[in-house]
Amino acid sequence: MLGQMMTLPLTIASVLDFAVRFHGDTEVVSKTVEGPVHRYGYADLAARAKQLAHALGELGVGEGDIVGTLAWNGYRHVELYYGISGIGAVCHTINPRLFPDQITYIVNHAEDRYIFTDLTFVPLLEKLAGQLTAVRGFVVMTDRQHMPSTTLPNVLCYEDLLAGRPTTGEWPSVDENAAAALCYTSGTTGRPRGVLYSHRSTVLHAMAISFPDAFCLTARDTVLPVVPMFHVNAWGIAYATPMVGAKLVLPGPHLDGASLVALMDEEGVTTTAGVPTVWLNLLAHIHETARPPSRLRRVVVGGAACPPAMMDAFQQLGIETIHAWGMTELSPLGVINRPTVRTEALPTDRRKALALKQGRPPFGIDIKVVGAGGEELPFDGTSFGNLKVRGHWVCGGYFRQEPMATHDQAGWFDTGDVATIDSGGFMQVVDRSKDVIKSGGEWISSIDLENIAIAHPAVREAAAIARPDAKWGERPIVIAVLKPGATASPEEIRAFYSGKVAKWCEPDEVVIVDSLPHTATGKLLKTELRRLYGQAAGLSSSPPNGP
Ligand code: ADP
Repeated sequence: MLGQMMTLPLTIASVLDFAVRFHGDTEVVSKTVEGPVHRYGYADLAARAKQLAHALGELGVGEGDIVGTLAWNGYRHVELYYGISGIGAVCHTINPRLFPDQITYIVNHAEDRYIFTDLTFVPLLEKLAGQLTAVRGFVVMTDRQHMPSTTLPNVLCYEDLLAGRPTTGEWPSVDENAAAALCYTSGTTGRPRGVLYSHRSTVLHAMAISFPDAFCLTARDTVLPVVPMFHVNAWGIAYATPMVGAKLVLPGPHLDGASLVALMDEEGVTTTAGVPTVWLNLLAHIHETARPPSRLRRVVVGGAACPPAMMDAFQQLGIETIHAWGMTELSPLGVINRPTVRTEALPTDRRKALALKQGRPPFGIDIKVVGAGGEELPFDGTSFGNLKVRGHWVCGGYFRQEPMATHDQAGWFDTGDVATIDSGGFMQVVDRSKDVIKSGGEWISSIDLENIAIAHPAVREAAAIARPDAKWGERPIVIAVLKPGATASPEEIRAFYSGKVAKWCEPDEVVIVDSLPHTATGKLLKTELRRLYGQAAGLSSSPPNGP
């Protein structure tokens, strides 16, 4: 017997319709590429998303067509999220930090019909335009006054495109399982792969990130996603804030510590989210000025492991860090670390150790770790193996690609991470399987070694990589950047490991450099570091004791 309840499709446009009716004057504030701060309410945003929908229709964009965006976090980009998906087309956010030939590859692979671009990326697109075979035209996201003179073919001005069009009208009915958005993984190994989100997966994910035991988003919050809207849809925040009626603050291209702190202060930001590298800059600025943003309460840290030193630094400012783990393939939220009654009662040192774990899944996601033979390993906090996930917002296969081994028959996705899960269900990433250091048959976590380096008072950022070694297979080395004005010798940093890890896990060498390379999503670029520093060293000069 079927239930007798209404079945309304979980569509992205329905989120905006809801915000118009119940949070219409809640603000969306944007620091623009052109300079000034722009502000309006969700009702204005929706009116302009409708104008955009009408304009897209006139350009011949319809259901199933893919439209690219090359843009910062700003109100026009949010209008595109809703306007494109609202008509049943697909919003393809392109990461401008990818290599130009990767951008060409993904635009052609997706067969983007139009590309909407911020002023910043016009010169980049001018170089690539000739190779973008399916693109019919480019729309510069600015007004007439700021339109650049450009060699881009078939170029339109965003504000001209919207001007005079109707601000009302019903959204077309769209199947909740229809494609809504497309995002490519950054492809540090191999070609970028497309993850095609549906309306349903996007709406469910936005609900899950809003939960009190997730980002804890409410109608009393002001949320600033530092994580870019071109990186896994800014972790879903631009869908979640209208859903809960939170104010949304968008920093545009102004991502340095000083600009972020000023904007957070001016707009009363309570919650922010981003990768550890951006928080390093923010903390460095706060350290210099001794002025943290006055209302900031929560910092969501994900995309890479959050070092304990970073948690301590935020805690001293009265700011809570929320450690989260995810992937492009998971929309991105997989697990998040929030306390339980049991963990809150633990002594401080145990609670601190637990905070370093990536956390537990919200309802909607299931996780397991499997051994080499594919057998599920116990939730004991020590057995480690490949981390597999499934759930309502986990990708079931890559866009326009043959099924891959990452998706098994039983419907689990292999994350490529090595992890443990403890008896409380808290998952901890040991490493990415390709970054783990295999020494003498044992595995050394590069994350553990990096966390120790960064706890040294002179160290700003550190990367641990494997160096091929004739005797041990691989040995760890650490490449570190010092804080401005700080001094420490490589030997001092190496000695800092003593007693903190088993002797054989201590790095063979510490190299001090001026800066570390990062990926397009702000993570340490380990492939490049291995190329630069990972040359074989022959027999290890100081053979480790064991294992
Ligand atoms: P890519 O970097 O390949 O584009 P993602 O941005 O989707 O892809 O990154 C996903 C990966 O980032 C995860 O598989 C994991 O290795 C790493 N990651 C994400 N969050 C964390 C975290 N909190 N701790 C450790 N690693 C993390």
